[in-house]
Amino acid sequence: MTSSSHHRRTRIVATLGPASSSPEMILSLAEAGVNVFRLNFSHGAHEDHGERHAAIRAAETKVGRPLAILADLQGPKLRVGVFENGPVILEEGKPFRLDLDKTPGNVDRVCLPHPEIISAAKPGSHLLLDDGKLKLRVVNVLNGALETEVVIGGKLSERKGVNVPDVTLPIPALTEKDRKDFDFALSLGVDFIALSFVQRPEDVEEAREIAKGRAAIVTKLEKPQAMEDLERIVRLSDAIMVARGDLGVELPPEEVPVAQKRAITEARRQCRPVIVATQMLESMIESPTPTRAEVSDVSNAVYDGADAVMLSAESAAGKYPIEAVSIMARIASRVEQDVEWRLRMDRARPKPEGTVQNAIVQAAWQVSTALSAKTIGVRTQGGGGALRMARERPHCPILAVTPHQEVARRLCVVWGVFPRVVEKEHIAQSIEELAEPTAAMACSMQLCRPGDHVIVLAGLPYGVAGSTNTLRIITA
Ligand code: PGA
Ligand code: MN
Repeated sequence: MTSSSHHRRTRIVATLGPASSSPEMILSLAEAGVNVFRLNFSHGAHEDHGERHAAIRAAETKVGRPLAILADLQGPKLRVGVFENGPVILEEGKPFRLDLDKTPGNVDRVCLPHPEIISAAKPGSHLLLDDGKLKLRVVNVLNGALETEVVIGGKLSERKGVNVPDVTLPIPALTEKDRKDFDFALSLGVDFIALSFVQRPEDVEEAREIAKGRAAIVTKLEKPQAMEDLERIVRLSDAIMVARGDLGVELPPEEVPVAQKRAITEARRQCRPVIVATQMLESMIESPTPTRAEVSDVSNAVYDGADAVMLSAESAAGKYPIEAVSIMARIASRVEQDVEWRLRMDRARPKPEGTVQNAIVQAAWQVSTALSAKTIGVRTQGGGGALRMARERPHCPILAVTPHQEVARRLCVVWGVFPRVVEKEHIAQSIEELAEPTAAMACSMQLCRPGDHVIVLAGLPYGVAGSTNTLRIITA
């Protein structure tokens, strides 16, 4: 099989920004292989995101396959205040104070306009500034201020980010800005809402209550506290993102690959899609080709069995957004043709669970592998059948057919799933009524050719809520 005819299983998420927001660019990115577009609410006005949203929906019609939209909320990103005379240089061993006084700072102090951190920090807690480039140790908590000692010095400019890895902060995961952005994103009709700096399961529950099913919830793993409560957090989320940028500031860098593998394993165990994000092709912000190490990083995520890999600044603000998407697609396709990758997918198959829902997808894996079937068609109402099928990481693509557009879009982030929307059908009583059109659709999408084996899964009677209970083998 050549790369060009390969049906890539790993999905691509691309962030939109100043470098990539014209309707022509968005269409080109979709044609280059983007499955999910990310709107980053840390930057840009509502108006910008609204225009991007409209352009993505227009591109979706042109490319003829569903595209999903993910709104990523900024979350409680903590920042220092401003300085009197521009950036200051903090020297190792010197004292530095963080307080609530809004007066512009200097080399001795700066405002940290977050009383919650000041009251939650203890002597010995560490504060990381500017993506971890500088490090302070709290010596004393005095009159609403933190007296610290500079552990790692350097230049500090205004409004740089602050991370407090040792402390669970008594702050909600949604700020006032996030709540406004959340409502706005829901009003646009986005498919996913991503939550930043989640610390506890309750943070995810709160977002679920706001979304009320109108958008799926993606939890970004970027706090050590979330990694510690991984099982419950994954259970409450519709999908997860390994947000390696902030995670790698809060954790020692050598912990990040370990956390990535743990998160992917747990997500697959619980049947939740997982996105690996941040710095994947970082050098492509400036350069038309990635470094070998970056190529290796993307391919590793594919070998790990991630559902999706993500571009941030590479597609949002870089010089080569299309090239970044193309190379990402090529890397994923190449890995997916390696025998070792296939063995890894097979070895990590989850154990049978003893339920009808699970038994039917296990059977589909067996039958499709035994017959070298070219497509597994899953007729699905809510998308669960396609998700469970994807968890088996079958040897052929999954064609998920649903009458619901929002379900098809949410499946865009799922490993190996090619979603399609069909007109709302009558309630099919027999598998024959569903199998033939599914195989025909697979042929027209060039997933298979006439004569190939196709497996079709459905819940019958179809159209009545309930789970997949029927498997049919047909010849396309
Ligand atoms: P961000 O999240 O790009 O919104 O910071 C991703 C990350 O931290 O890795
Ligand atoms: Mn982040």
